[in-house]
Amino acid sequence: MENSIPYKIYLEESEMPKAWYNVRSDMKIKPAPLINPGTLQPMTAEELAGVFCDELIAQELDDTTQYIPIPEEILGFYKMYRPSPLVRAYCLEEKLKTPAKIYYKFEGNNTSGSHKLNSAIAQAYYAKKQGLKGVTTETGAGQWGTALSMACAYLGLDCRVYMVKVSYEQKPFRREVMRTYGATVTPSPSETTEIGRKILAEHPGTTGSLGCAISEAVEAEMKLDGYKYVLGSVLNQVLLHQTVIGLETKAALDKYNIKPDMIIGCAGGGSNLGGLVSPFIGEMLRGENNYQIIAVEPASCPSFTRGKFAYDFCDTGKVCPLAKMYTLGSNFIPSANHAGGLRYHGMSPILSQLYHDGYMEARSVEQTAVFEAATQFARVEGILPAPESSHAIRVAIDEAIKCRETGEEKTIVFGLTGTGYFDMVAYEKFNNGEMSDYIPTDEELQKSFDTLPKVDL
Ligand SMILES: *Cc1c(COP(=O)(O)O)cnc(C)c1O
Repeated sequence: MENSIPYKIYLEESEMPKAWYNVRSDMKIKPAPLINPGTLQPMTAEELAGVFCDELIAQELDDTTQYIPIPEEILGFYKMYRPSPLVRAYCLEEKLKTPAKIYYKFEGNNTSGSHKLNSAIAQAYYAKKQGLKGVTTETGAGQWGTALSMACAYLGLDCRVYMVKVSYEQKPFRREVMRTYGATVTPSPSETTEIGRKILAEHPGTTGSLGCAISEAVEAEMKLDGYKYVLGSVLNQVLLHQTVIGLETKAALDKYNIKPDMIIGCAGGGSNLGGLVSPFIGEMLRGENNYQIIAVEPASCPSFTRGKFAYDFCDTGKVCPLAKMYTLGSNFIPSANHAGGLRYHGMSPILSQLYHDGYMEARSVEQTAVFEAATQFARVEGILPAPESSHAIRVAIDEAIKCRETGEEKTIVFGLTGTGYFDMVAYEKFNNGEMSDYIPTDEELQKSFDTLPKVDL
């Protein structure tokens, strides 16, 4: 290959980021604050302290500090599995016969199989520092629960996970990995909480959703002494921790003077995409550079492309604060498809504001097309991708094919958030030709929009 760019760009330990980048500091229009549904006033640190750890609340509310130092202990843990490689997809480029240059940042090199560990270790660290006994959380596809179990095991914290029932049943080995790391795992909705019992009564036979599991985990935390609740996506603090992905990507690209034209990521709650693109959007916000940023979501759960930008509850049980975000309504329960980690009704308030202000675009893709891309990628690049990550692969391949047609030599970077070894039921369905593409109708979405809280701010 005549090109001097290596297949994998790694950073030296000394080149790893020492601080997270807070993109809110450079946003002229800040993301709207979390609102207390009772008073309709912005949530104060005191109010949030019933649910979250103090240091994480400070990060949640901080719209001004540009760089937040990563504590030594977290840096040490990061060094165990980071930096993650930025891979030049030479093999895929050749297969596609595209003049485009494709790179992907691979976050699947740890047992959780995803980027989630970047925030799990940070959140567990602050909980430990506050002297807590343990944490409660939800998990959708299981990656977040696994990551948090790993972080809690490392720090000696108890970990209680409410796992969306469809995943609990489809991915028994995920559950077992969490238990191996010492976590307690309960399928959600469950009979163990008031809200779980209520949801089961209203939607008998439901396979659950992230929104339900969040309500259960928050209720469990409030009833336990010495516990706080932690969340694996959506929140500002999570997006902040995930900027380690984007900062490493930028440092690796800068080493070879590469400027991406296009940055693509899958969007569930928005944390990996937000983390990947933050440093680049920061340059856009400061007027230094321009990039095309693309969020990719499942057509079955299309928060950006068909949702409303409005205040909504973060959970089905309406126990959490209101967040202003692109949302399908907290009552929206997505079809039991397999894009497990992308089955959330809302979207990060930071990304929602940036999308609203035109700094990024969004596309929705159908499941079978996603698995076609996943298979194509696995066969040439060697990595069996997570279904979530494969949403980004789909659009990266589509864009590379467009370049083949126009002859443009665009540089495409996408986030390969994880591996799909626990998703073989989904792959099996695809291989058997039994996978379907469920797309909600306008009427279904409207029914859910009708239940949005009437908040005029
Ligand atoms: C959780 C998850 C996602 C989606 O979550 P975001 O918060 O939107 O990043 C994407 N890919 C993988 C592998 C995941 O585990």
